[in-house]
Amino acid sequence: MSSRSHLLNDRTAEHYRRSLTQGVERLADRIAGTERPFTGITPAELAPTVSAIDLEQPLENPQAALDELEDVYLKDAVYFHHPRYLAHLNCPVVIPAVLGEAVLSAVNSSLDTWDQSAGGTLIERRLIDWTARRIGFGQGADGIFTSGGTQSNLQALLLARAETCRLVRKNAETALTTPEILPRLRILTSECSHFSVEKSAVLLGLGPDAVVPVPTDANRRMRPSALAAEMERCAREGQVVMAVVATAGTTDFGSIDPLPETAELCERTGTWLHVDAAYGCGLLVSRRRHLLEGIERADSVTVDYHKSFFQPVSSSAVLVRDRDTLRHVTYHADYLNPARSAENSIPNQVDKSIQTTRRFDALKLWMTLRVMGADTVGELFDEVIDRAADAWHLLDADPRYEVVTEPQLSTLVFRYVPQDTPGDAYQDESAALTDQANLHAREALSASGEAVVAGTVVDGRHYLKFTLLNPETSLADIATVLELIAGHAERHLATQTTLSGAPAR
Ligand SMILES: *Cc1c(COP(=O)(O)O)cnc(C)c1O
Repeated sequence: MSSRSHLLNDRTAEHYRRSLTQGVERLADRIAGTERPFTGITPAELAPTVSAIDLEQPLENPQAALDELEDVYLKDAVYFHHPRYLAHLNCPVVIPAVLGEAVLSAVNSSLDTWDQSAGGTLIERRLIDWTARRIGFGQGADGIFTSGGTQSNLQALLLARAETCRLVRKNAETALTTPEILPRLRILTSECSHFSVEKSAVLLGLGPDAVVPVPTDANRRMRPSALAAEMERCAREGQVVMAVVATAGTTDFGSIDPLPETAELCERTGTWLHVDAAYGCGLLVSRRRHLLEGIERADSVTVDYHKSFFQPVSSSAVLVRDRDTLRHVTYHADYLNPARSAENSIPNQVDKSIQTTRRFDALKLWMTLRVMGADTVGELFDEVIDRAADAWHLLDADPRYEVVTEPQLSTLVFRYVPQDTPGDAYQDESAALTDQANLHAREALSASGEAVVAGTVVDGRHYLKFTLLNPETSLADIATVLELIAGHAERHLATQTTLSGAPAR
């Protein structure tokens, strides 16, 4: 085959059709035949297979490469569509979005400038407007698709930093430079917020203590009174609150910070409010929309369509209430988006983004809305929230388990607790044993390939976590997984305890 025969163009359309069809057939068979979410293979077992591939020896034909891919990837991939994949915030994907993905990569539009994307730019703008409307923002809103919640949070905080520095300068009696202001800036966010807030603070050049964790209530929601106290403390100590980040759906607990009270505090003090709805954004289309009340008062919002809108990775956006704030990421380059194109009203999305070349991820959401409609997406999310509520009752009634909070969204943080816990004299060892039993159960479960669950730490102790994002996961699946976990934990404990029942020393 000539080298040019691999290029997708008018002469190779048939080759493209055959090649893609082979791939789709392969995946359709693979997905139809998935019996377990994961094979349980270890990195050490799989690494030699990947290392053995000679990248200097191409196979030339796609069928052979797909055969090889079975071994290096497909056989042992982690399949999020499987009902017993219960680990992270990964969703099964909707078919219209997968279709969109195939289209967008073949046409390969880049959404930095109109002259590279045309209709793609307009479609993305419609979806930003659509999302802004769902949030409840007014006509002045805008936003941009990003690679994920991490990038959305970073961009939102970058805008918050610029706006805050501008205000600090305006109110200062003497001229202040940015390096003089940055160390004084603080970001207040709940102790349960996403770690990308901290990463963003570092990338934005803030000081090491810039992110101030605000205590939460028993349901892991940020306490407004604690937030108010922190804001006052910052003011007293000459620090400047650059942003308050409220989370609408924390990664571990799915807890939604009190948005109206938080917005009230921010409005009163003129503080930028960012709402991280990476996980909770699905509520925008659900019958539980009321849980997001107050989100419309935010200055910026992160939404991850690749979490609760059932979109393939990546698909995310950052929205702002006031489009003028996006000017802080606008730079002009003569070779790309000269200032005169803005003057001539040519819509160049790069003017609003921290990326340049950028995927047309919006097409996936577009196809989803055009084929299924928003309500259908919302129904899927509502179903997993309903399931989590049922699963909470199951866990709460099971003496073998302790569950941290009753979920607002679709996660459950719980742990196995041994039945005959020894007396006070052994409390520390008992706690350590419980930790080990849960850590072991998670690993053993994953190694068996029967199910995949996540783990986290609460108040210094190891817990397990279900993140439910698959409506196909039934309550029976959840009950089965709980039996498996208890079995692994009990067998582990049996090897760890002496005959007297006291923990081994
Ligand atoms: C997942 C998540 C993020 C990060 O999003 P990515 O798309 O993984 O970059 C941010 N915030 C919250 C609350 C999340 O759950």
